[in-house]
Parts: sequence; structure tokens; C-alpha cells
Amino acid sequence: MTKRLSFLILLFLAITTTSTAQSTIPSPKSALGFNPGDDRTVAGWSQITDYFERLDRASDRVLVQTLGQSTLKRPLIVAFISARENILALPKYKEIQQQLADPRKITQNHDRLLANGKVVVAISCSIHSTEIVASQMSMQLAYELATAQDADTREILQNTILLLIPSPNPDGIDIVANWYRKTLGTPYEGKEPPELYHHYAGHDDNRDWFMLNLKETQLVTRLLWHDWFPQIVYDVHQQGSNGSRFFIPPFYDPPNPNISPLLLRQVGLIGHKVAADLQAAGFKGVLTNALYDTWWHGGFRTAPYFHNSIGILSEAASARLMSPATVTTEQLARSSTRGMRNAVESSTNFPDPWAAGQWRPRDIMAMEMISARSILEMASKFRVEYLRNFYELGRANIEGNKVDPQAYLIPAGQGRDEAVAKLVGSLVDQGVEVYRLDRELHAILATPILRRTNPVAEKLGSYRRLANLTSSQMQEVPLGSYIIFLAQPQRTNVLALFEPQIYPNRLTGQGEAERPYDVAGWTLPLQMGVEAPVVMAIREPAGERKLTLLKDTNEVRADLALALKKGDESPIKNPVKQPVRVGIYKGWTGNMDEGWTRYIFDTFNVPYTSVRDADMRHGALSSKFDALIFTSQAATQIINGNGVGTMPQDYTGGITEAGVKNLKEFVNNGGMLICFDNACDMAIKEFNLPLKNTLEGIRSSEFYCPGSIVALDVDNKHPIASTLPSSVPAYFINSSAYTAASDANVRVIARYAKDNVLLSGWLLGEDKLSGQIALAEMSVGKGRIVLFGFRPQHRGQAWATLPFIWNALSTAASNTSEE
Ligand SMILES: [Zn+2]
Repeated sequence: MTKRLSFLILLFLAITTTSTAQSTIPSPKSALGFNPGDDRTVAGWSQITDYFERLDRASDRVLVQTLGQSTLKRPLIVAFISARENILALPKYKEIQQQLADPRKITQNHDRLLANGKVVVAISCSIHSTEIVASQMSMQLAYELATAQDADTREILQNTILLLIPSPNPDGIDIVANWYRKTLGTPYEGKEPPELYHHYAGHDDNRDWFMLNLKETQLVTRLLWHDWFPQIVYDVHQQGSNGSRFFIPPFYDPPNPNISPLLLRQVGLIGHKVAADLQAAGFKGVLTNALYDTWWHGGFRTAPYFHNSIGILSEAASARLMSPATVTTEQLARSSTRGMRNAVESSTNFPDPWAAGQWRPRDIMAMEMISARSILEMASKFRVEYLRNFYELGRANIEGNKVDPQAYLIPAGQGRDEAVAKLVGSLVDQGVEVYRLDRELHAILATPILRRTNPVAEKLGSYRRLANLTSSQMQEVPLGSYIIFLAQPQRTNVLALFEPQIYPNRLTGQGEAERPYDVAGWTLPLQMGVEAPVVMAIREPAGERKLTLLKDTNEVRADLALALKKGDESPIKNPVKQPVRVGIYKGWTGNMDEGWTRYIFDTFNVPYTSVRDADMRHGALSSKFDALIFTSQAATQIINGNGVGTMPQDYTGGITEAGVKNLKEFVNNGGMLICFDNACDMAIKEFNLPLKNTLEGIRSSEFYCPGSIVALDVDNKHPIASTLPSSVPAYFINSSAYTAASDANVRVIARYAKDNVLLSGWLLGEDKLSGQIALAEMSVGKGRIVLFGFRPQHRGQAWATLPFIWNALSTAASNTSEE
């Protein structure tokens, strides 16, 4: 049989099986016993994956793949949905996408790719698991696309390939679904669970898209930015219950200066199409141009901007998980955000306010379904334009401009191999091209420069850190260094990760700081304590350089001789010098700082035990622990926990006064208490320490520093700082700074730098921070208390300050072993 003949037979079989299969495609209701979105119903993760498996078997428009396992070992899946002939030819379309994403790979005329390609759209649901409706909606969306026979749907399926991710956080779907079922019909129905809905990150699972600490972000990043390069990414969220019914872009200010204006325009165009379609369908309360901005990096829908793709966010008003909510006019009137005075008055960006009343999961689902459909329609109707713009942005990034430097460098021989390996590994994992120098080069280097695209903002900005570029000289760059050229499709991503961020000085009419949506600064090499100078010029012409392109993370680690076995879960050696019994306090309020602390301890293989409220109340802490860590959390939350009556009784109460008493006994007996940021307030008050947080209660017109990187002056004669340099970048997020009432017993380990304290982000009122205590140690009884004013392990990103924690624990061990 000729190949051609067998292909025709296969095609015939495919067609005949299709026509019978269409009638037997199971509806979500037939599989689940309820319609997705029905009041007081929820499908857990195995129900969702079972349904998608059934669709895969029954429909030739649907192909389901397992990307890998989540943190708690659930399958993370994606459903490819398109016309049958596209599904049969997925490898061909993947190849086209990879060529459009990197025009250097195109050998033929690119017009042919534009003519033949499909717009790839990724839709991701419920990364935030309490925003659960979209995960249920995903089944209905898939079913309708799999079964519809109308001309419009067929056109969408012809022109697009949908990558539908029912949830990028499978563990969280079950955490929330199990909790919801457990509390259904009780006074706590519809309340959020008393734990993080991601094992480590909770809500911060959507702050990990450049660091890639979590399994889930690693798996989805591989799908999106190694394999498929979607032109459009739609991330489906929910917001609070009492404001607008639905937010859709355009976004609010400020935009990130590294995002292409063309992308911002395309984001706006799609957003307005969604808003208009919702209006036409009779939905009220749709808001644009408010609250959410494009400044921050690291979100599911912000990562696409740095891969030349369009990122869309929607935020539907929440019900009470899967139970209806009642919203009053008074609540709507009190709801106010950047860009929206309240949710009852109409305005150009909010022309049709919703009247108060019942709000149900079904309302959320209906709006999300229209939104998804609307985006797919746009992708289909303007197929060639989306492909062309995507291609052109990649091409322009490779060609570059006269303003940008040539490259960033990570010089060999700077020590801190783990941090270098992690940084380079994160870059490689998100598809950034990184080369290793296999022969020395000669280059002009400079410290990172700030690029301002808005001279007015520059004038208003309180800080300018422009490198003096003329003073650099040609110097030798050692073998084994890593170099990241800007001439690559991800130019803007490299700039956004390596440059210091200078957030524009945005004040309200009353002179108060206007809060950014998320953090103001994140410069990755700074956070990680890795030197990464700018390469202004290279002496050797391209032909005389010896460079190797890194292929994967394992290669990077092997490179740095970290003695790893391939596939090791956590390859880093425990940095704590002595065996030490560590307890990390874990309440019932779902504290992300606690989760990230566990993440870091697990990554570095430092053993610990989670200490619950009941353990604190029970006491005998000295017999179990040498050191106790309280991560950033308000003192009232630690002591009182969830209020009585707000949660089932097992989850209320905090450590109570009994726990405080036991904590005092623990320290007096020789234990070490370590507190991060907000938790220091508890220690200062309960132990009557001679420190005062000088930033407590201060108005934002006097001092403001949201998520930024600041410089510390470090006394590295102190054992807790012994392995650190004298100047260290630290993460400050509305954090703390101290003065000492008496110096007698306060050993200052680090102060916020006297000069140039801001390294990246936004800082108003520098004088309130400069020179204040950032890290100190005090003796109490036979024990010690160590207070961190900043976040030494912020989001698993602040590797620069991790050694403070390891050193403190090393000294805790030596303390008890002497006894
Ligand atoms: Zn969300």
C-alpha cells in the first residue's frame, strides 16, 4: 500500500468515526451529575481531569496532554481544542509557532508561515483556587467547542488552536473543593479555607512567572514559552464581591516601559471587544482602565508581554465560592479603586453599573464564557494580523536599537554558585538565550543602567541611578562566565529582569502615595545577590568568540560543579553548619510568607517542623526545638488567630497568651526566636525589647516603599553576617526599620544604607529609612532573639539575604550544644 493510499484510508476512518462520535460526546452534566456553575456544586480535580479524558476520547477536536505533576503530585493537564484537521497536524503548527517566535529560524519566505499558521490562544482558569468558577467553566467551554456545528464556531476552530488549562494549580482546586464540601450547609459555607491553596505559595502562585520556583510554573512555562508560543494568553480570575462585576483591560497606569506599545494597544483592543460583547449580551457592571496595571512582572498574564504576546486578564466579582452572594447598594457605593470612584456611578470606563442584588457562580461563568468566546473570535477574524505582529516584534527584538547595551554578563568566580545556577537556570527555563564563555573575552562593562522612556516621570522621580558609562575600560572577562545578549526574541524580558526598576512617582491629590497593583521593583540579579554588569562593547568580533548556548537547567548546574545527580529534586547541600532543630510557626490564616519559608528550607534541604497553634499552647518547646521562626505576620493574628465564630472551632484562636508564655520560657531556657518583618512587633511587645519600629503608622506622604530592593550596610564581623559582603541588597515590602532605645543589649547586624538606599523600585522619604536598624540580635535570659526588619526570603526570590537565616540557625545550634 502506498503511503498516500494509507493516509486516505486513515482520513476516511477519521471522518466516519467522527460523525458517530459527535453524537456521543458526553456533556459535563452527564459526567458530573450537575451543570458546571450550578449553585452549591463543585467538581474536584479528578472529576475535571476525568471529564477532559472523556472529551479527548469522544471528540476529534480535543486532545488532552498531561504536562507533569503538581507540587502535591496531581496531574497538570492541557486540552488542545481546534478543528479536526488542525488537531491531526499539531506538530506542524507547533513548528510554525517556533519559527514565528524566533525569525532567525525561518528559512523560507515568512509570508507562507503567516498564510498557513493558526493563532494559538492559551486560556488558563483559576490559578487562584478560591476564584474557582473558571475551573468549572473550562468543562462547559470545552464541551461547547467540541460539539457546536454553527458556522461561527467552525471558523474559530479552523483559524485558532486553543490551549485550555482547566487550572495551573490542581492541588488548590482540591484544597478549596474539599473545604467547600466540608463546610456546605454549615455557618461557614462559602468561606475561604484556613490554609494556603498552593502548598508553598498560596496566592503568590501568580507571582512566580519569572523565578519559576514552583513545579506548576515550570510545567506551564515549558508548554507556553518553549513549545507553543501563544499569540494570546487569557488568564481568568475573580476579584472581591462588592465592586465592578467584571474587569477587563485596558489596564491602569503605569505601564511597564519595556512592553511594546503595539502590545498595549492590542491588549486594549481585545479588552474593548470583550466589554462590548458583554454589553451586547445584556451584562452590566463591566469596568476597564482601572486598578490592575502592567508595571509588575511575574504574573501569568504579564509574562506574555515579555515574550511578544498579548496577555489578557479578567476579574469577575466573586460569589461565596460556589454559593450565591448578596451585594447591597451601600457595599457597591463604598467600593473604590484606582480608576473607579465607586461601583454605583457610571463613567466612561464603567458606563453601565450593576444594580445590587444576588450574585451567583452562574453569573460569573456566563461572563467568562462570553469573554473566552470573544477573544477566540478576535483571534480568528484577525488571524494574519496577530501572527504578523508577533513575528515583527520578535524580529525587532533581534535587530535591536541604538539605545540598548549589547548584553548582560554573569562573571565567573563571584562565588555563590547556587544563586548563579538558580538565576541562569530560571532564565534558560523561560526560554532566554544564555551562553557560556568557553574562551576569555575582552569587554567594556558598566553597572546596570536605568532606561527612562518618560522624561516627565524622570523629572518627578525621587531617584536616579545612572551608571557613569564613560569611565569603564576594556577588561578581561573570564572563561566560564555567562553572557545574555540582548539581540534575541526575549530582549524586553532580559531588560525587565536585569534593569533596576524606577517606579514613577505617583501621588494622589492629597499627596499620599498611590499604591501600585503589586511590587515596584524585582531586579532578579539584585534580589539573588548575583553580580550582573552591562556589557557595553566586546573587543573580539563574533567569529573569534567561543560560546556555548545552554540547553537546560541541568547543564547549568553541572557546569558549576555542584555535584548534582540529574533529576535531583533539590540539589543544594544543607547550608546550616550544625544539626539544629527548627520549628516554623504555621497558623490557620494561610500566611504566604510562611509558605515561601518552607519552600526555601525544602529547596536547601534544611530540616524543620511546622509548629501549630496547639503546639505553642501546649508548651515544652525547649525539648523539641533550638530555634523557632515566626514569618511575617501581624502580632494580633499570631496571638488571636481567626476570631471565634468566623471559622470552625479547630481553626480559631491563635497561639493565645499561653503560647506567648511558652515562647518566653523557650527563649529564657536558651532557645533562639527569629522573627521576620511584621512578626517582630510581637517579639518587641511581648519581650519588652528596647527597639521601636520607626515606620509604624507613618503616612504614605512621609514614607512609602512598596515591594522594592534596598541596600543594607552589614557588620560582617557578627557571626550571623560572617559569610556576607559589607553591602547586601534586601527585599523591603512595606517592611520595618528600628531604632534602639538603649544600645546595651542590641547587637546591630545590618542597617539600611546611609546613602543610595534604593536599588530598585520606589521609595518616598529616604531619610526615614537610611541608617535605621534592619537586622539585630538581642539576648534574653539564656536565649537570643533575632529580628529581621525586611523579608529575607521574599517569594523565594531574595537569595541575597538567605545566608543571614542559615548563619543564625548555625549559631542557634552552637548555643544549645554548649549547654
Ligand atoms: Zn486572582
